[in-house]
Amino acid sequence: MIIVMQIGATREQIDQVADAIRSKGVEPLIMPGQDRVAIGIPASLDNDQRTDLTAVLGVIEGVSKITHTSHPYKLASREFHRADTSVQVKNVKIGGGSFVVMGGPCSVESYEQFSSAAKIVKKSGATILRGGAFKPRTSPYSFQGLAEEGLKILKAVGDETGLVTISEVMSGDMVSLVSDYVDILQIGARSMQNFPLLIEAGKSGKPVFLKRGPAAQIDDFLLAAEYVLNQGNSQVILCERGIIPLDRTYTRNTLDLSAVPVLKEHSHLPVIVDPSHGTGVAKYVTPMAKAALVVGADGIMVEMHPDPKSALSDGSQALTPNQFEKMMAELKFLGNAIGVEF
Ligand code: PEP
Ligand code: MN
Repeated sequence: MIIVMQIGATREQIDQVADAIRSKGVEPLIMPGQDRVAIGIPASLDNDQRTDLTAVLGVIEGVSKITHTSHPYKLASREFHRADTSVQVKNVKIGGGSFVVMGGPCSVESYEQFSSAAKIVKKSGATILRGGAFKPRTSPYSFQGLAEEGLKILKAVGDETGLVTISEVMSGDMVSLVSDYVDILQIGARSMQNFPLLIEAGKSGKPVFLKRGPAAQIDDFLLAAEYVLNQGNSQVILCERGIIPLDRTYTRNTLDLSAVPVLKEHSHLPVIVDPSHGTGVAKYVTPMAKAALVVGADGIMVEMHPDPKSALSDGSQALTPNQFEKMMAELKFLGNAIGVEF
């Protein structure tokens, strides 16, 4: 429910509305607008509570309109927050008009490998450095990441280059460890509905990069974001990374680019596209990265490895340094043409 106050409604009238909502056991969300205040109820009320509250609010002076929200998520919705949210991480702003590029290898493998990837990321004008230290692998026999050693390398290289860093955290009890080393916590596609993890990430107060689960509907995705927001952490970045495909012959997943305008319509959160996991094939990454820019994404996350053939994970989708630099040049050219800033 959202209660829209009249233009010029007094502080007392707003307080009366807020108190009436609190009497139902929920905390109201006061949303000052340009010329009037709206008050949101970020919780689901049952029918009786709603009818009751509507009756009480209807007679408070200063109330202009009571509307019922159409989505199960509240804090993530545009109804509750009209303006685009941007997440500021050090000197990088994610969302709010410009286009950010996150680049780096799937996994941190060694200082040499990671530092050499980071130099290319920086040189080509990308601003965020990615690299997994804890890897969610389908097989327990595959490379699982360097764990804390990987985080140390990530932090050292981040400090050396001045790039903002992002890395995945897979469980709630690891949030504090990963938070000590990285600027942005990544929650992977497989963990999108790991609710204790979402809650811990929310509590950490760190920016959270949430990937869409391969079988998640848009509402599931935004409700997962709602878990983080509901902990008082407003720094949430959404990532479309491909959903289960009809045909795996040619691509690993189906990159759902239509999710970008849909998410932008129904949510105020920044949306990033990951064409690497979205296609699983290096040669399709640049075309889909360009498509992401055109469709209105706030940025991309792209895997790049100094030597993809020797990569310990996701080598087949990793761009070479040359391909990464070429992609960046093409994106900048395209960005210029359509008026998107880098
Ligand atoms: C990754 O970013 O390396 C990763 C594991 O991605 P996803 O969670 O989208 O599969
Ligand atoms: Mn990967």
